[in-house]
Amino acid sequence: MKRVGLFGGTFDPPHNGHIHIAQAFADELKLDNVIFIPAGDPYHKLRQSNSTAEQRLCMVEQVIAMDKRFSVSDCDVRRKGPTYTIDTVSLFRQVFTQTQLWWLLGMDSLLQLPKWYRYQALLQSVNLAIAQRGEQGLTELPNDLQGWLPEALAKNLTTPDGADGGRAKLLQASFLPVSSHEIRAEWSKGKHDDVPAAVAQYIDQENLYRA
Ligand code: ATP
Repeated sequence: MKRVGLFGGTFDPPHNGHIHIAQAFADELKLDNVIFIPAGDPYHKLRQSNSTAEQRLCMVEQVIAMDKRFSVSDCDVRRKGPTYTIDTVSLFRQVFTQTQLWWLLGMDSLLQLPKWYRYQALLQSVNLAIAQRGEQGLTELPNDLQGWLPEALAKNLTTPDGADGGRAKLLQASFLPVSSHEIRAEWSKGKHDDVPAAVAQYIDQENLYRA
């Protein structure tokens, strides 16, 4: 059974923390492929960054060259209107039929999951790989997920490989202390060591993140 990981994000810019967690995602779940899925442009208006979705996509293209298991999809960049994770997952479900699909998520996002559009359908259609971010932990799990998580963790260990969703795994790797918003804020001060050289070169060439 093929195993594919989906890694959604704004990637404005993609940084070493993303690469570290994507590699841990692939290693710990023995994934054949991790597909980076940059978000579309509505995000851009909210965050007031001067990068476009096309530029974020180009930066992710630099990153995927670093590991042969990595690839990128432009499906959310091309989609008009709001992007919901359930829609993105449904799209990949149609393409990857005989495949175990995993979605990578930080613990901070897991705690917010019951607020996501059609989150229960999402939990059934994809498996969740959860990475620890900062101090937030399972003790803060919302009531709506308290019954689901132990079952989903057990399902991953006990159910034979299948192309279904509903599993969960807590990754051993945790987040590196780096974030895109800090990189954007610090860029003009010359702090460029948290992104790969090819991404740094692209940012300078396109004049991104100038105050
Ligand atoms: P921002 O600082 O602008 O909020 P970000 O650094 O959190 O951005 P995103 O593009 O929003 O980056 O994140 C994409 C995905 O990568 C999310 O699932 C997020 O949880 C994860 N991620 C973000 N930062 C890290 C990190 N330092 N280590 C591991 N994973 C990360």
